[in-house]
Amino acid sequence: MNFNLSEEQIAFAEAARDFAQGELAPYAAQWDEEEIFPRDAFAKAGEMGFCAIYAPESIGGLELPRLEAALVFEEMASVDPSTAAFLTIHNMATWMVGTWGSESLKNQWGEALSSGQKLASYCLTEPGSGSDAASLSTKAEKQGDNYVLSGSKAFISGGGDTDLLVVMARTGAEGARGISAFAVPANTPGIEYGRKEQKMGWNSQSTRPITFDKVKIPADYLLGREGDGFKLAMKGLDGGRINIATCSVGAAQGAYEAAKTYMNERKQFGKHIAEFQALQFKLADMLTNIVASRQMVRLAASKLDSNDANASAYCAMAKRFATDMCFQVCLDAQQIHGGYGYLKDYPIERLVRDTRVHQILEGTNEIMRVIIARQILVNGADIR
Ligand SMILES: Cc1cc2nc3c(=O)[nH]c(=O)nc-3n(C[C@H](O)[C@H](O)[C@H](O)COP(=O)(O)OP(=O)(O)OC[C@H]3O[C@@H](n4cnc5c(N)ncnc54)[C@H](O)[C@@H]3O)c2cc1C
Repeated sequence: MNFNLSEEQIAFAEAARDFAQGELAPYAAQWDEEEIFPRDAFAKAGEMGFCAIYAPESIGGLELPRLEAALVFEEMASVDPSTAAFLTIHNMATWMVGTWGSESLKNQWGEALSSGQKLASYCLTEPGSGSDAASLSTKAEKQGDNYVLSGSKAFISGGGDTDLLVVMARTGAEGARGISAFAVPANTPGIEYGRKEQKMGWNSQSTRPITFDKVKIPADYLLGREGDGFKLAMKGLDGGRINIATCSVGAAQGAYEAAKTYMNERKQFGKHIAEFQALQFKLADMLTNIVASRQMVRLAASKLDSNDANASAYCAMAKRFATDMCFQVCLDAQQIHGGYGYLKDYPIERLVRDTRVHQILEGTNEIMRVIIARQILVNGADIR
């Protein structure tokens, strides 16, 4: 078992670090404060291949393993978890289009999404169906060569600022098997965007409700087959959960580095606070939890790449563990900064605000436990 990265992987991570330091770090606080969705930065990320890291080459993606995607997202999240997290959602939606889209859909949208010229949102949650996503009620009806969609979605990241919506809608009976997935151009007549949500963090990306009123799209904008939509949505989310977990690892690494630096600068009682064993132990625990989280994420990434039968459970474990552990690391880093950690002069408070939501979205951490428990107790999986 080799835990070391290859030379290519190290070089790839370094390229992502340079990008994060040059294109995200200088602006992250301003994007947060002024709630700016940085389209130009996403286009520049696209030039590096970061908008389609694991999407198929046939649509211009890099088709790399999930580990490589994690290397990139971790570097970006260490300076700007909000912008990095939107990029992960775009990657997930682009992968779904590239993997299950028809030839005509891929021809029309594939390259534009992969290059970051066009951006995509993922639309599963509805006002009445969050954790119980399979109960969604947005409907899609086949009418000749089209589908017609009606219903509402809630909490859509990038909603109102993106160009393509991957929408899960009901084409059949109640339950997961009655759901299909569609690619819907975001400016199609009948789509309305609601008020931009005012959030605790993730301010460099908009979050809006969306309503669909008899929205007509070509029938070949269906992803996969009718009735496959929930399965595809969950496959997308397996990778999405690794990505979000990675954003927590990156943010925690950024917070840990800042705390370490601060401990060697700040003096109280006539010495650097780094000399207090209580803080030394805190820093040691922070690093331990970051390393453990990173290993969980990389294990889940390799299980997903190898189509392991328990991959979904590993992704859920990694998401639950890394988002909980790394949020705590950010809180600890804030504590080490004392009162200064509460001020916007330092990036710590932004890292705390941005990572809180990772415990809630792409399936809450309670739902991660539901997934893991079901795999062990109902499906009888022997996971070690
Ligand atoms: C900033 C932000 C961005 C988002 N972006 C997107 C997006 O781009 N696309 C998208 O589709 N969605 C998005 N979401 C929605 C997100 O995925 C949901 O908020 C999340 O899945 C939880 O659903 P809910 O808010 O309806 O909570 P609920 O499902 O109502 O849950 C409420 C509480 O009950 C708990 N709970 C529910 N069921 C169970 C159970 N069986 N056992 C134990 N506990 C349970 C939950 O864990 C939670 O604590 C976003 C949310 C936020 C906040």
